[in-house]
Parts: sequence; structure tokens; C-alpha cells
Amino acid sequence: MTESYVIIGDGIAGGSAAKTLREESPDADITVITDEGEPLYNRILIKEYAKGKIPMEDPLFLHDEEWYEERDIALELNTHVTHIDPDGHVVHTHEGDDYEYDALLVATGGTPRQLPVDNSDADGVHHFWTFQDARGIADHAEESEKGIVVGAGLLGIDFAAICGARGIEANYLMRGDCWWRYALSEDGAGIIHDALRELDVEPVFQSGVDHFVTDDDGQVTGAVDPNGEEFEGEFVGVSIGLDFNTEFLRGSGIETDDGIVVDEFMETNVEDIYAAGDITRFYDVILEEHAQNGSWDSAKKQGAVAAKNMTAADGEAEEFRHVSSYSISHFKDLPFVSFGHPTIGDDDRERKYSDTEWRRLTFKNGKLIGGVLIGDLKLQSVFKRIIREERDLEGQKDLLLEEDFEMEMLEAPAQEQ
Ligand SMILES: Cc1cc2nc3c(=O)[nH]c(=O)nc-3n(C[C@H](O)[C@H](O)[C@H](O)COP(=O)(O)OP(=O)(O)OC[C@H]3O[C@@H](n4cnc5c(N)ncnc54)[C@H](O)[C@@H]3O)c2cc1C
Repeated sequence: MTESYVIIGDGIAGGSAAKTLREESPDADITVITDEGEPLYNRILIKEYAKGKIPMEDPLFLHDEEWYEERDIALELNTHVTHIDPDGHVVHTHEGDDYEYDALLVATGGTPRQLPVDNSDADGVHHFWTFQDARGIADHAEESEKGIVVGAGLLGIDFAAICGARGIEANYLMRGDCWWRYALSEDGAGIIHDALRELDVEPVFQSGVDHFVTDDDGQVTGAVDPNGEEFEGEFVGVSIGLDFNTEFLRGSGIETDDGIVVDEFMETNVEDIYAAGDITRFYDVILEEHAQNGSWDSAKKQGAVAAKNMTAADGEAEEFRHVSSYSISHFKDLPFVSFGHPTIGDDDRERKYSDTEWRRLTFKNGKLIGGVLIGDLKLQSVFKRIIREERDLEGQKDLLLEEDFEMEMLEAPAQEQ
């Protein structure tokens, strides 16, 4: 009997799953359903499009419609899944169509959260997730002079870089004392603050948004922060996190906990239903607990692992074991990467080497689990290897801060002695 597989979502998790499913199962029926109007594109490069650095759209597409035709994969664009029936093994869409499956992959990611303040949906207040968002941001940024950025994290800084690249003078309103305060200290963040100022983006600390101000046409003209200070800006970028796209799972029995809970095989608690990508709260075998990870490489790998396991014979499932990384290249001569889990752990170490070089590492149970490198990324692969190998670093953590640290400086693992 021909197997049939349905994938909801054509981001990198869904796209990589479709590719792997076809490789693993040449004769299966495969359907990819997405509520976007275009097939898989490189979501991490749409910021370069919005900055004006990649002016053409074509290079951003990873799959065109022929890609699906050549592989005999049915692609349903502009189709929103409204609910699923796990007992009947059926997916229902907003147009009343039904898709039956033997195994289902949910790869629906998240939607940017709006600030819960007045006028947060005014014209000129942008949220950034899709190519369509990027087109609107690019058009508006091109004609704007003053900007406001909200959201002191990895996506908020993309808005700051767009302002910098488009010559928009901007204020970057942050709630705490520094950018990405969950992963950086003031020492590390200070390097980023200086780089922002060079782009004409001014960090404003202990701030945020109480409400947005609009003109009579409903166009945003500024923001008032909780201290009562008003900032002018007709271009506003808000990036304060994601709401995970799980509404259509209501009543399905699938366990959710701010995302879909899966094991290390990307399998949910409901038979024949898998999940991959940003949407998952997955069991991280290195961390030995459930975790989340909003990164491209992780979503891609999870999609491939899920697809293999959807087609695997009993007892042959592959586990997801991966150390992700997320880099920022907005600042000239100032590379930045975060890897693993830099915002959690029971211990950390950090050191500043110069005005542009800084390192912070996080640990759990004596093992390295993540970090952030600014200015010099040469040790990235060494640190990721240490995480993968789960090296016991008790009594040796400070060694990892040596400027010219090498793997050989660590004691050999117990089994090798
Ligand atoms: C501007 C920007 C810059 C980024 N930069 C980086 C970076 O530099 N490095 C990095 O590692 N990561 C970066 N990321 C994050 C990275 O892009 C994501 O982690 C990754 O794309 C997640 O892929 P995914 O397939 O899990 O989800 P998504 O890409 O979000 O795909 C989910 C898809 O499912 C669709 N969908 C949702 N609900 C339904 C439904 N009910 N029915 C049908 N379809 C549905 C959505 O419309 C979407 O197309 C960036 C993200 C953005 C937005």
C-alpha cells in the first residue's frame, strides 16, 4: 500500500522534511500545505532584502514550484489548516478540503507577537517574519527618516540594522540595561551598543513602549515610553517574541507547552504525528531536558530527522542531536555568534579581551551547553565540539576563557586515560 504523508508548513523544517521524505520513500504520496503564497525561501536572508543589500527576490527562493513538481510532491499554497483529526488521520483546511495521512508533520513555526499597547497595529508599525513582511518593510524604510526599534533580542537587532542600512536615524528602546540581557552582560552588550551607535541607532535603556502615537490617518508618528518620554518615528520595528502556531491543534490531544512537546525523535504524544522546527519544545539529549531553539540550522535538521522517523521501521528511529548556532553579520569587522543554549544553565564564565572582543560560556552540571562570541569566532567549532562530546569541565571552566584556548589544554576524558 502507498504511504501518504502530510506536512503542515513550508518553512525550512517542512521543506527539509519534504526533501528527506521523498529520498526515503520514492513512491509515497507527499503533500505540503502552507498558508503563505510562495514556496520555501531563505527566511534568514529576508533581512538583507529589507536592508536593500539583496535587491532581487529570486536569489532568496530555495524551492520554486518546479522543485515540487519534479519530485511529485503536491504543494498547496495559501491554504490554512484549521484543525486536525488524529483518530481519522485527517487534516482539514479553511477551504473545507480534507487531506488524509498515514503520518503527519507539524512544522508551523510562530507568528510575531504584538505589543499589548495602544496603536500597536497602526500603519508604520512593522513585525517581521515573512517575505511579504520584508517587502512592506523595505518599501517603507526606503522613504523613512526617523525610526523606533523595540525588542532587545536577535530579531530586534535586524530592525536596527535595517534602519542603519537605510539611513534612518533611530532610537532602540530596551527594557533593561543592555541588549539581549538574557545572554550578554553589560560588558559584552556594550560592544554591540557602540556598533549600533555607529549605525546611527541610539540604545535607550530602562525604556520600552507605553503606547504609540498616530496622526489623523492612523500612521504612527512616535512612541511614548513608560517614563513618559516621547520618541519620534514614522518607521517602527517591533520584535518581542513569537506566539507559536498551535491554535489548529485544539482538541487534538497533542501536548503543547508554549510549542509542541516532542521527544528526541520529533514524535508527539499522539501516534503518527511529528513536529519539527521553531514550533517544538524538544527533548535535548545533550541538555537532558526539554528545550526550544529558534534557529535555521536546528529547524532544518529537525525536519530531516522527523522525516526519517516517519518512514523508519520499528526500532530504527534516529535521535535529534545537534548544537545550533545563530550569527549576526550586520556590523562591519564585528562578527557575532551565539551557539547551543546561551540563556540557561547553572553557571557561566565571561571575559572581555579588547574593545571589540568578548566571550561568554554557559554550563550545566559541569558541562558546556552554550555561549556567545563577539569579535573573534575562531573557537566556535571547538566549543561546539566540547558541547557535543559532553566533556566534564568541573575545575577547568576558566581554561575555556584563555584567549588562545585549545582542546589539548583540557584533561583527557576519563575513558581515554
Ligand atoms: C527576519 C528573520 C531573521 C532571522 N535570522 C536568523 C539567523 O540569522 N539565523 C538563524 O539561525 N535563524 C534566523 N531566523 C530564525 C529562523 O528563520 C527560524 O528559526 C526558522 O526559519 C524556523 O523555521 P520553521 O520551518 O520551523 O518555521 P517557519 O519558517 O516559521 O515556517 C512555518 C510555516 O508554517 C506556516 N503555517 C503556520 N501555521 C499554518 C497553518 N495553520 N496552516 C498552514 N501553514 C501554516 C507559516 O506561514 C510558515 O510558512 C530569522 C528569522 C527571521 C524572521
